[in-house]
Amino acid sequence: MNKPAVVYARYSTDLQREASIKDQTDACRRYASNSGYDVVSTYHDAAISGASVVNRPGLQQLMHDAKRKGFSAVIVHAIDRLGRRLADLADLHDELTHLGIKLYTPELGEITPMHIAICGMMAQDQLRNIGSKTKNGQIGRASSGKIPSGIAFGYRALPPKVIGKTIERGEREIVEAEAAIVRRIFQEFAGGKSPEAIARDLNSEGICGPGGREWLNTTIRGQKERGTGLLNNALYIGRLEWNRCSYVKNLRTGKREHRLNEAEVRVVIEVEHLRVIDDALWFRVKIRQEKIEAKRKAIATTTGNPLNGARRPQFLLSGKLECGCCGHGFTVVDRAHYGCARRRAAGTCTNDHKIRRDDLEARVLRGIKQSLLSEHLLAAFHQNVEAEIAKANKEQNGARKRQEAELAKAKKRIGNMVRAISDGGDFSSLKEELAGLESKRASLEAGLATPQIVAPTIDLPSNWVEAHRAEVERLEEALEDEATKESARTAIQSLIERIVLTPVADGSGLKIEMEGALAGLLALSAGQKAGRPRSFERGLQLSVVAGARFELTTFRL
Ligand SMILES: [Zn+2]
Repeated sequence: MNKPAVVYARYSTDLQREASIKDQTDACRRYASNSGYDVVSTYHDAAISGASVVNRPGLQQLMHDAKRKGFSAVIVHAIDRLGRRLADLADLHDELTHLGIKLYTPELGEITPMHIAICGMMAQDQLRNIGSKTKNGQIGRASSGKIPSGIAFGYRALPPKVIGKTIERGEREIVEAEAAIVRRIFQEFAGGKSPEAIARDLNSEGICGPGGREWLNTTIRGQKERGTGLLNNALYIGRLEWNRCSYVKNLRTGKREHRLNEAEVRVVIEVEHLRVIDDALWFRVKIRQEKIEAKRKAIATTTGNPLNGARRPQFLLSGKLECGCCGHGFTVVDRAHYGCARRRAAGTCTNDHKIRRDDLEARVLRGIKQSLLSEHLLAAFHQNVEAEIAKANKEQNGARKRQEAELAKAKKRIGNMVRAISDGGDFSSLKEELAGLESKRASLEAGLATPQIVAPTIDLPSNWVEAHRAEVERLEEALEDEATKESARTAIQSLIERIVLTPVADGSGLKIEMEGALAGLLALSAGQKAGRPRSFERGLQLSVVAGARFELTTFRL
């Protein structure tokens, strides 16, 4: 059986000559089958710029799955498909290496840190050029009344016109059925309905949102000053605004940060034939938005805790909670509660339970403590680790056995040929085949001569529970203490794989299932609060168990 691999492809509109997702994927598949891999899954991101890794769902899903260890190699058409920033590429490569996953491109073969360094530098440079080119082209088209970016809800694109050698795109016309929805949304919001409620009702009536997707509160609300969101699109009053703000990518977070542009570089064109709502309704919406904003600011100043943008605090369990009904995240819905993110954004999940943040955090900590201190968990942990290691060793043994069998076969054929030649056979054709067999034998022998790496079993001291009782008992206190807070948080977060919250059938609360990450426990057991344990520096054991989970505990709240 071949080893499992996955393919990642990315197509961005920045570069028109790029190979399509399909072409990239096909090339990677060919490479995979020639190199002894089976492609078990493919991931891609389309039409997203390569500037940052953070905003690419396909790649994020790949890295998420990588931690669960379903494959041993990632194949990409070219390194820059993974990103164009050197630091991102290096991080990705490190993370994959740490998980024991190899990276290949059809052209370069296995990717080493040296490849990353060279390609990363070139790609970064290329990215800077694309940024300025794209923008200049778009401003030119906006000035001539064409719409330079995506098609807003309520409109369709007219077929491109061919004028001489150039193709004119960007003409739009109103789609009346969608325009009616736009009017309804503006009216409902002006009348006091929240974007959440509007989205929920549209979804429950089966009305599709932009791009045929479900409606989200954010699709409607957007951000006023940036002109994002349906309620802020001035095209609905026949004004085409372009270059309203500049986006500067924050290279650390991958988020685009915006800056309002000076009036003189903005482009505003009247396109009355695209008007969907009248000015009166538009201004009623603007007035309500301003009232909401004023209220939000007042709350922010009195509590000193604005729940907006970059200052949103990272909570202890952020990113670990999962709705048992729809599989989306449970996120902070107001300062004190967690709830299903999909229910909040789209109203399309049935899980309406909210759970107090402090209750949940306290209960999770207690669960971790109890669970980590039990002999039962220790036994289960041992068993899991041993099983994972045995599996890895078995895979390796299998590969070796196959090579040995192939070598024996090659040797036998060589022997037969030598005999045939000495008996006076067809010399010239045999000679060629013989040379091929000899080189195959040499490479198999070389492969088998390298010592086999056997993942060692893990010796957890028999007094592990005793030795760590105090440390685990201290977790809660450590979280309170400024000096130890960060490391305690990291330790807890690396211990938790995920927490699934499902409503109990009788409606009396939520069932909370916690899954632990073996790698996190292993790190703790090596006497370090976080990060890679010193005694496992080769990363071998850690990569073996990286994806393994275990039941931590289940409780109700
Ligand atoms: Zn849900």
